[in-house]
Amino acid sequence: MNETPLVEVKGLRKSFTLKKGWFGTVKQLRAVDGISFAIRKGETFSLVGESGCGKSTTGRLVTRLLKPNGGEVWFNGQNISELNDNQMRPIRKHMQMVFQDPYASLNPRMKVKDLVAEPLLIHTKLSPKERDKLAHELLETVGLNSIHAERFAHEFSGGQRQRIGIARALSVRPSLIVADEPVSALDVSIQSQVLNLLQDLQEEYGLTYLFISHDLSVVEHISDRIGVMYLGNLVETADKDTLYDRPLHPYTQALLSSVPVPDPSRKKERIILKGDLPSPVDPPTGCRFHTRCPSCMDICKTKEPVFKEAEPGHQVACHLYDETIMK
Ligand code: SF4
Repeated sequence: MNETPLVEVKGLRKSFTLKKGWFGTVKQLRAVDGISFAIRKGETFSLVGESGCGKSTTGRLVTRLLKPNGGEVWFNGQNISELNDNQMRPIRKHMQMVFQDPYASLNPRMKVKDLVAEPLLIHTKLSPKERDKLAHELLETVGLNSIHAERFAHEFSGGQRQRIGIARALSVRPSLIVADEPVSALDVSIQSQVLNLLQDLQEEYGLTYLFISHDLSVVEHISDRIGVMYLGNLVETADKDTLYDRPLHPYTQALLSSVPVPDPSRKKERIILKGDLPSPVDPPTGCRFHTRCPSCMDICKTKEPVFKEAEPGHQVACHLYDETIMK
């Protein structure tokens, strides 16, 4: 794996304005609140966390489907945070998305070969015949038969539709694929087939993945490094083995305690978090996790922990490690 980052996210912020009530009270929903991470060329970096933690918004900010309110996104050494649509067009070719619900993201009126070739129409000058040929080849690459090319998306199963979505993303030979919950709508048996396909394609095409999931058991299979998000903040990042063997943040520990382990001797005690996820419109003071944290201390209610390196390559935002961090 190359050490050069393909993506660098620096202090990224995104808030949405909400109007409420008779008097149109304006509130800000802070979906992503100052996060930083980098993704090296050829690696899979996964973002995990409960629904509403800001991971999907982060994926859309990285691909600039959304414009950030603050911070920066760098892609291949270029700051793309402020680029307009025209300036983004040549860059978009290099970053594609795979979505959770392939059916909703595929036009039901288009034949599969046209769905797969559509990005080629936008981003290349290939002739219709060349696009057609490439679409047939891509369908074979993702494990479908090229005779499927003349059919429509509704004629396929969920797993096959996700393969079509992947073929479509691959068509313009991107360097980055942002996969947002790509297997969570699929049966468990199909999930592993799609994950294996993504891994094979990564090897074959040298792809870099930003993989977004709420499910730590899915992420374990595919990730090199993992970032855990809570209420718009990154609370822990580490390489996969470190995170699974030695999670530091109480939130990561709770998430991991609910992942099924095949070996009964490694069975962990389940940590049940109290309360619901607080609203990102009005997040708790201090550490945002303090209302649910089993290890909460007084300082946690007032002082926000800094996201810092606790050991080489392992960052965490938690007052439990303040001293370790300062050594
Ligand atoms: Fe828990 Fe305090 Fe650490 Fe937050 S800072 S995770 S409340 S121990």
